[in-house]
Amino acid sequence: MKIKIIPEKCIACGLCHSYAPNVFDYYDDGIVKFYDTTLDTLEVSNNYEQQVNQSIKNCPTHAIIRL
Ligand code: SF4
Repeated sequence: MKIKIIPEKCIACGLCHSYAPNVFDYYDDGIVKFYDTTLDTLEVSNNYEQQVNQSIKNCPTHAIIRL
């Protein structure tokens, strides 16, 4: 599964990280980034797909999308 984050839509609520702490991280201002890359797209490993689906579903601003 490939996903994309849209930092311009992020309101720094922290939910995505609470569901998938190994995938989502934050800049100092709380805006979402991926844990291990500064790119906006990521191929999610199978191990984390379920967690990431929860993050996508619960992000209040739809700042995480499946490609
Ligand atoms: S759940 Fe959405 S709005 Fe909240 S920190 Fe993550 S990307 Fe940003």
